[in-house]
Amino acid sequence: MTGGDPGRRYHGDGIWAARRINFDANAGLGLLPPVREGLKNLFNSGPGLGLNPSSLHFDGQRARALIEEARRDISGALGLSSQDKLVFTSGATEANNSAIYSVLFDSNSASAGARPEFICSAIEHPCVLEAYARLELLGYKVAKILPDRGSSEISVDSVLSQLSGKTRIVSVMLANNETGQILPVKEITRAIRAQNQNILVHCDAAQAIGKIPFSFSDLGADIVTISGHKIGGLCGAGALILRAGVDIPPLLVGGPQEQRRRAGTENVLGIAAFGLAARELAATLSAYAKHAPARLKMIRECIKSIIAESHEALPNVLCLPNTVCMRIPGVKADDLVVALDLEGVSISSGAACSSGKPQASHVLLAQGFSPSEAKETIRISLPPSQSEEDFDGGVKAIERCLRRFC
Ligand code: PLP
Repeated sequence: MTGGDPGRRYHGDGIWAARRINFDANAGLGLLPPVREGLKNLFNSGPGLGLNPSSLHFDGQRARALIEEARRDISGALGLSSQDKLVFTSGATEANNSAIYSVLFDSNSASAGARPEFICSAIEHPCVLEAYARLELLGYKVAKILPDRGSSEISVDSVLSQLSGKTRIVSVMLANNETGQILPVKEITRAIRAQNQNILVHCDAAQAIGKIPFSFSDLGADIVTISGHKIGGLCGAGALILRAGVDIPPLLVGGPQEQRRRAGTENVLGIAAFGLAARELAATLSAYAKHAPARLKMIRECIKSIIAESHEALPNVLCLPNTVCMRIPGVKADDLVVALDLEGVSISSGAACSSGKPQASHVLLAQGFSPSEAKETIRISLPPSQSEEDFDGGVKAIERCLRRFC
């Protein structure tokens, strides 16, 4: 359905909305234009999408071919070797849960006698922290590493200090979704390997892929998780990547899909979109590098020029090029999110999945913010490509809204 006004779009259910400006790209990028085009072609090219890729007949095999093509595209874009394994899942949440709960079904650790132990950073995504919280309820020991108070970093030494002979998995994300902070996963992995070759290093790379250069072989982690909608594909498709020689029992059992590593008929459409988005990864990366840092600087300066006490949440740490987390004293982040939404601009007051919740962000609390300071903190995350007109419109809307608050 289209309308006469090009500035408005029909969103279904009788909702007409003004053109939207996405300053919340870490929540979801939206489909990249080449992905949209590629999907249109797939829709027009016959029944492959709706058929079961496990069927032996011709149509089933067309669906299978789409999955295998996507696997090749993603593996190539992320630097996997032919021995590494890429297992499709419903997203990074499932992939992270699969990595962590694998211990419950691992006959090796069960027969080894001693209960395995775990380590994770305290700033992981809730799908990691809550999976570990369940293991804690079952009596497993999980050490949570807090950022260093001075540097705000998750240091290699703080991880090493928690290692024991029983440690089975260490989970450290590559980039934090709320603050954009980049963690030293490569260094942590190397240091752990030097002490104990049997510990699995698990890294949630959902927010890093496409925003900073990434090579699976270079990172060195054993298990990496990724998500299609964070790189311009559809929601509902992600992957678990296993280093050559590493295997974990599946979380979902039933059919033999994904070489028995994840049962359930594959989300062919979501996987195809994920593959199409992976083909754009190099272009996405350079678009972020070209536009985002200068634009973030303009946003920071705009906010500071109106409320001088405003400051970056983590001014001295290495962050994703598209993400800034700012505390604006005296302004409730949720109020600013709503005010900007009414102006057609999307930002967030934390992770998308925790926005609107009364609790303060666990990430900011772990970084030493008080609950009230955390609630004055917004996240702006830019998409890789945005017209100057949209970007300027977004900055002007921030300015207008902040002036109303002072
Ligand atoms: N991990 C991180 C760092 C994320 O930012 C997200 C989503 O925001 C997830 C995991 C969950 O990914 P998915 O939506 O694919 O389940």
